Amino acid sequence: MGKGLNKESSISFVLDTIRKYGPINRYEIARKTSLSPATVTNITDKLIKAGFISEVPSSVSKRGRKPINLTLSNKNHLSIGIEIDARYITGVVIGLDGDVQKSERIEVNRSTPEDIFQETVKVYNSLVSCLDRRKIIGLGVGIPGLIDPKNRMVIFSAVLGWRDVSVDEFLSIIDVPLFIEDNVRAITLGELWYGAGIGKENLLCIGAGRGISAGIVIDGAIYSGPNDRAGEFGHMVIEKDGKKCKCGNYGCLEPYVSTETIIEKVLEGIENNAYTRFSPKDEDRLFEEIVQAGKEGDKFILNIFEEVGEYLGIGIANIINFFNPELIILADELSKAGDLILDPVKRAIRLHALPPIPEIVISKLGSLACAVGSATLAVKELLYSKSDQYIALMGR
Ligand SMILES: [Zn+2]
Repeated sequence: MGKGLNKESSISFVLDTIRKYGPINRYEIARKTSLSPATVTNITDKLIKAGFISEVPSSVSKRGRKPINLTLSNKNHLSIGIEIDARYITGVVIGLDGDVQKSERIEVNRSTPEDIFQETVKVYNSLVSCLDRRKIIGLGVGIPGLIDPKNRMVIFSAVLGWRDVSVDEFLSIIDVPLFIEDNVRAITLGELWYGAGIGKENLLCIGAGRGISAGIVIDGAIYSGPNDRAGEFGHMVIEKDGKKCKCGNYGCLEPYVSTETIIEKVLEGIENNAYTRFSPKDEDRLFEEIVQAGKEGDKFILNIFEEVGEYLGIGIANIINFFNPELIILADELSKAGDLILDPVKRAIRLHALPPIPEIVISKLGSLACAVGSATLAVKELLYSKSDQYIALMGR
């Protein structure tokens, strides 16, 4: 074994390398991990038998057959992820490789925990209906608000209007390991493993929708803080004696940049006879309609994104100066606006952040990011937290 690693850490080292750089061949794994080729072959053979990884058919080039590549498997183990939001429930089935094999979204308009979890169970049952149940490794649920993942409790959710809700109580009917996480941290994990953040070690993922918060990745791991409170980016004060925030404070970032604010500004402008051709049609799809009008060049809408983007960029500049991240990912509802929001955000960052300015990108997993990230919770547990399983693997 190279680097004095024990069996267990060698396995997770190999898995990590395949996850980050796969498809990758055994020689490259040996090079990147400094393990001997024989050790890598031994470990990868066992990981293939366990169904964690699989071989990708090799291609033949002019110089002969290329070495066989390895990736995380999409066949033997499947994870279910569900995002709960006040307006919809979104579910996915993913393999260990993160590929979405099935997805489903239903609209909801009730928000008591009983109602929402009843719908959640329906979405789960529909997702797993045609699957071999023995392959399901777990269910992850992403919920907006202050979450206690260890005890699977929603401490408080402003979006859902919940306080002290035990998720176990409602989902114990589902007989697989259950994980819950705050929605933005789930998005961050999804982007880190399977999206825009692959291969990065230090990044910030800004979840901007009706609420604003940030997922923080330090040295490849999600940082939550001792009270799971880290990342309350929306409550950074950016204006002395500014707008009142839902948290009770004044001048927080959130009331300047949330999608709710954008909708309010648009409706207010229309009421005050702003020069625009935009007129709202579907109340439930208002934000999408606004984005569409912006993309079609409506000046009134563009100015609103410009103003919101400037505030958001100032907020992000502050955390760039503080964290020195290598990447910023913009996710959640606001990210649907794409360049409409990204361009003014980048301009404000260039004005206010100290160089070097990190790359700033839009979420790669899009509207499935939270569901995929929630499913990743069970994948992470399977691949990295079961040391007994590793020892059994190596003992075979
Ligand atoms: Zn606030």
